[in-house]
Amino acid sequence: MRDEAMNPAIYGQAARAGTVYLVGAGPGDPALLTLRALRLLGEADAIVHDHLVSDPILELGRAEAERIYAGKERGNHTLRQEEINALLVRLAREGRRVLRLKGGDPFIFGRGGEEVEALADAGIAFEVVPGITAASGIAAYSGIPLTHRDYAHGCMLVAGHLKNGTTDLDWRALARPGQTVVVYMGLLGLPLLCDELIAHGLPADTPAAIVQHGTTPSHRTVVATLGTLVERVAQAKLTPPTLVIVGEVVKLQPKLAWFEGKTPI
Ligand code: SAH
Repeated sequence: MRDEAMNPAIYGQAARAGTVYLVGAGPGDPALLTLRALRLLGEADAIVHDHLVSDPILELGRAEAERIYAGKERGNHTLRQEEINALLVRLAREGRRVLRLKGGDPFIFGRGGEEVEALADAGIAFEVVPGITAASGIAAYSGIPLTHRDYAHGCMLVAGHLKNGTTDLDWRALARPGQTVVVYMGLLGLPLLCDELIAHGLPADTPAAIVQHGTTPSHRTVVATLGTLVERVAQAKLTPPTLVIVGEVVKLQPKLAWFEGKTPI
């Protein structure tokens, strides 16, 4: 990046040694990074990233920066959260400028809260940079407004991963009419999700969509209903990450979709 582009009023202060920057990378399209994230990518000494951070974004990082994949360690085991916390503390104590890069927004289903708590406990300086969360990025690129005066006066973001086949989601609240429900990590529990929403009062013909790899060149949307989504998803052979959107607003997708099939430059 050119020097004159580094105006602190626009990009924030230069990255400081011994500080951890917890940064949201957005849902995948590099064009959705914040200016602050872009500056920090160009200045970090160490970049600790998750599996959700897309390659084109990592390529924007400083060439000399050490890149550490925290999503999974060798042998395909995920680094435990405590190990990631300890890694961030160690790198900062070594005097590095540490970029902790997470998909979407670090404070939405990203365990960012746990990481900055650990940093605060260890007395490490940190900064948190928001990112575009999957819900808003995917809604925009798919042509599904999350709220709309005619269809939804609110929107709920929930995590759909289930422990031992059960879930503690508040189905009654999720099945209320007049709102949009966005489910992160919902692919595995999709049959249960659709069944419970119908059992708690949403009509089986409620529009529902699932989007894979949102905002990337492999962005794909499947639009169905609560009653047919599971079958349609099986036919479409979607791969994670996927996001589920349930509600009347999904009806607008065929009319408002503008991105799918258009490879970003
Ligand atoms: N902090 C992230 C969410 C992390 S949880 C954020 O704010 O977006 C991981 C889940 O996010 C995935 O299982 C998936 O449901 C969703 N997700 C993230 N990026 C996605 C993408 N590009 N396309 C579809 N779903 C995505």
